[in-house]
Amino acid sequence: MDIETKKAGAVVIGAGTIGAATAWHLAKRGVRDVMLVDRNQVGTGNTSKAASLMTSIRHKEAMVPLIKETYDNIDEIENLTGESVGKQTVGTLHIAASQTTSRTLDQLREIADRHQVPYQELDIEQLQEKLPWYNAEKAVRTLFFEHDAFVDAYVLAKVFAEAAKKEGALVIQNTEVLELVRQNKTMTAIKTNKGTIETPIVVDAAGAWANQLSLQVNVPIPMAPVRSIYWITEKNENLFPKDQPMVSMPDAMAYSRPEAGGLLFGLREENSPHFHPDELEKAPNSEFLGNPEDQWDIIMEHGQDFASFFPGFEELGIENCITGISTYTPDGYYTFGELPNVAKGFYVAAGCSGAGVAGSGGIGRMISEMVLGQELYADPSAFLVDRITDFDPMSEAFGQRCADARSKKKDGG
Ligand SMILES: Cc1cc2nc3c(=O)[nH]c(=O)nc-3n(C[C@H](O)[C@H](O)[C@H](O)COP(=O)(O)OP(=O)(O)OC[C@H]3O[C@@H](n4cnc5c(N)ncnc54)[C@H](O)[C@@H]3O)c2cc1C
Repeated sequence: MDIETKKAGAVVIGAGTIGAATAWHLAKRGVRDVMLVDRNQVGTGNTSKAASLMTSIRHKEAMVPLIKETYDNIDEIENLTGESVGKQTVGTLHIAASQTTSRTLDQLREIADRHQVPYQELDIEQLQEKLPWYNAEKAVRTLFFEHDAFVDAYVLAKVFAEAAKKEGALVIQNTEVLELVRQNKTMTAIKTNKGTIETPIVVDAAGAWANQLSLQVNVPIPMAPVRSIYWITEKNENLFPKDQPMVSMPDAMAYSRPEAGGLLFGLREENSPHFHPDELEKAPNSEFLGNPEDQWDIIMEHGQDFASFFPGFEELGIENCITGISTYTPDGYYTFGELPNVAKGFYVAAGCSGAGVAGSGGIGRMISEMVLGQELYADPSAFLVDRITDFDPMSEAFGQRCADARSKKKDGG
């Protein structure tokens, strides 16, 4: 169906968790005729691949208020729509198995104290009880954040989009944005395969494809598409009770959470593959991202450390392997904001650094406050799109810097 020429107060391109949350925040704050446009359907981009851990306390402290905002938003959109996002509050265990990691837990404690987030120190017996599969003897120290949750990111995007509709936004699916139109360095419209939408505000939340759009208006986004990968084991009620906590294990470069009676675990590769945006398919495609043999090789190569903490690991069947694209920045922070001297009215909301489910509501609120010129609820300086200069987001060298940020990541999914 042609949308012909329409007028919007703001257009958000990309209906993943970040775009859908941004559309809701804009509509909720009174921007009229917000349009959320996606070439596929809501939540079917890399959002549909996420492990969806919402680790609240991270070493990158600037992210903490944004993640808290997402937790608050979930309560609000569930009330508004009457729909559940599938939030499971099982808590997070940060386990140190070395003195070096133990010192980083001191930093996490300080961050938690500053943000008044409660936690407990667990002894070996308490850890073993919560995590039957883990060899608790190896733990030097454990911090437990009992209020942490994971969600179903696909459902979260859908509920954000539903909430946006309730606030008057229009959700336009199966519609591809082809061209961004500027006059005198000011946004005026977008052209889609179904018609033109006139708008003074464009938010680029197109995930791994965001640079393909933003470069049309000379805004390079400091991020690159990087592969993320995790596996799901067979079910085992004794080893993997459904309410077992999520786990961050920096000493094994691994994380985990319960999934349908099995264990979902992710490993960080030393060299995460990165991709040129033009080479990506238009929807996530696991085969493109690594064939089944590669995926086994990764377990063989990087799973040894994980297996050393999990005595029964090698006997356990693996039921599924999920690969997807995260968008990493070289410093591992989100990236958003406007470059008004280059493209007034064009806002970036991308560069999720593997935490764009957790930070989605927080990013959406930030963008909406920027658009409306309101006081920002948190300090944006760590995230601003122009914090990194003199780079070509399409270059191999820059892609490698972003991939390194994933490989070095210490916490979250
Ligand atoms: C394996 C894996 C595990 C992850 N685990 C976690 C985790 O534990 N915790 C966490 O917080 N995050 C995690 N993430 C990251 C998380 O998935 C993303 O940060 C989050 O879903 C936000 O994605 P997005 O909205 O930026 O992109 P996407 O969901 O990819 O959305 C972008 C959308 O833009 C649309 N689009 C692109 N180009 C156009 C165009 N020209 N016209 C119209 N539409 C267009 C696409 O169709 C797509 O729907 C993980 C990611 C992966 C891949």
